[in-house]
Amino acid sequence: MSAKQILIVEDEKAIRDMVAFGLRRAGFEVLEAEDCRTARQKVADRLPDLLLVDWMLPDMSGLELTRSLKKDDSTREVPVILLTARAEEDDKIRGLDGGADDYVTKPFSPRELLARIKAVLRRANGGGEDEVLDVEGLRLDPGSHRVMVGDRIIALGPTEFRLLSFFMTHPERVYSRSQLLDRVWGGNVYVEERTVDVHIRRLRKALEPFGYQRFVQTVRGAGYRFSTRIDET
Ligand code: CA
Repeated sequence: MSAKQILIVEDEKAIRDMVAFGLRRAGFEVLEAEDCRTARQKVADRLPDLLLVDWMLPDMSGLELTRSLKKDDSTREVPVILLTARAEEDDKIRGLDGGADDYVTKPFSPRELLARIKAVLRRANGGGEDEVLDVEGLRLDPGSHRVMVGDRIIALGPTEFRLLSFFMTHPERVYSRSQLLDRVWGGNVYVEERTVDVHIRRLRKALEPFGYQRFVQTVRGAGYRFSTRIDET
């Protein structure tokens, strides 16, 4: 399989270099553009597998660039991750409304960015429905509906399985209880938000003997996040 090509659109050279370095080391082919005009030319030359677009760019905003790519039939399928220094919730939502597939707030760690890129690429490539997910030795096999660590099977109820599967395909990002209800339970069911906490507790309990419960993190006042980064607070 040939290397996936990622186009970084960012005017700050230091950040571009840092990101490009990390991505190349992870086996990606990297293209760079310092403004939207250059980015459009590169996209027209050859469609990348993913674009990383900074919000603040000299000629137009990264959001506008994303919107225009998503409006164009020839580029709409290419996933876009917005890099933003603005952490305000409504900016994030506007970013997603503009058609971005995900967003990453600066400052981010190379590891976090990489996890998000891989998750977005996996979703873009038809979801990889039967692909075994592996996060630091915690393996989820959608085909056999099993969660394993080494050759030991972790027994999970159906809701905990769906929850873990959602988390493993959407890592490093906070989801509110109502977002989790929408995405994991489905928008039509009426379930109290407290139900989410119950299933999170069960999931943690099942993962605990293997030490993976620490990946299922509570973000106070916001919701839950699946992350391999442990913030000691
Ligand atoms: Ca910038």
